[in-house]
Amino acid sequence: VAKHAGRNRFSYFTPDIRDSAWARLRVIDELRQALARCELQVHYQPIVDLASNAIVKAEALVRWRRPDGTLVLPQQFIGVAEETGLIGEIDAWVLSQAVPCAMRLGELTGAPFQISVNKSPAGFMSRLIGHTWDEDMALLDRVGARIAVEITEGVLLDDSPGVRDKLARLQRAGVQFTIDDFGIGYSSMAYLNKFKVDFLKIDQSFVKDMLTTNPNSQIFAETIIAMAHRLGLKVIAEGVETVGQRDWLRQAGCDYAQGFLFSPATTEERFAQLLQAGAA
Ligand code: C2E
Ligand code: MG
Ligand code: MG
Ligand code: MG
Repeated sequence: VAKHAGRNRFSYFTPDIRDSAWARLRVIDELRQALARCELQVHYQPIVDLASNAIVKAEALVRWRRPDGTLVLPQQFIGVAEETGLIGEIDAWVLSQAVPCAMRLGELTGAPFQISVNKSPAGFMSRLIGHTWDEDMALLDRVGARIAVEITEGVLLDDSPGVRDKLARLQRAGVQFTIDDFGIGYSSMAYLNKFKVDFLKIDQSFVKDMLTTNPNSQIFAETIIAMAHRLGLKVIAEGVETVGQRDWLRQAGCDYAQGFLFSPATTEERFAQLLQAGAA
């Protein structure tokens, strides 16, 4: 098996092989090394104001740049990282990169710039990562709303004191909250009553087919936008790839959009160029 894996470096990421304990250990080990050797990178994807076309903020997305130069995308390692608690360290590292990046971009534009970071449910629930959580808070207490945290509905449905307490600490620090992948989760909306969030992100599956195979997606998007606005929340559409989708979302009153139409996630350097080109 080792020989085979050595020849095809992606083979041990396939779901069936990943299930074996051996392969899991190997990925865990590689991920630990990746963290220690600084093989992880953060890329930033613009989030655009649909009314003005200006870049208003960014989402931080982690990438794994292997020594041979290949770029590994999150879906190939986030799952294992979540199962092992390593996600806590990854998310903390991403945050430690995103905070100074938000400061630099703010200086560049002369106005506060917000970066949103993803936080896995496992990062809220794991007991292994207490130390990184305190490091997170030390950073976040100083920068507050320069950071938004993207969570999925499951986190807000968790009633355990540990999760509640962490959410409350983030909120006291002034961090903003985005519900990621909205509409495909539990679809219980009561948590929006108990916990103040700032943004809803319409899941990209609705955007993908709204103008082609599934007109119902337009109804879902309109409903999410109407509900969000009546609750005082802003709406971000993700996965916007075409001018048609952008125009439809704009006329539907969606506030912000993110997608390959504007730019994929990119290095801070290229992101800064996009930001300056937009401002000019
Ligand atoms: P997400 O948070 O929903 O992020 C959006 C994903 O959609 C990103 O994939 C982004 O590159 C991709 N995307 C953006 N625009 C388009 C588009 O127009 N079309 C299509 N088809 N895709 C688009 P990515 O970077 O591969 O990340 C996948 C997921 O991995 C993320 O979904 C998030 O759940 C997770 N993830 C990424 N970075 C982190 C991280 O630092 N921590 C944690 N816990 N999770 C992360
Ligand atoms: Mg996200
Ligand atoms: Mg999303
Ligand atoms: Mg998603």
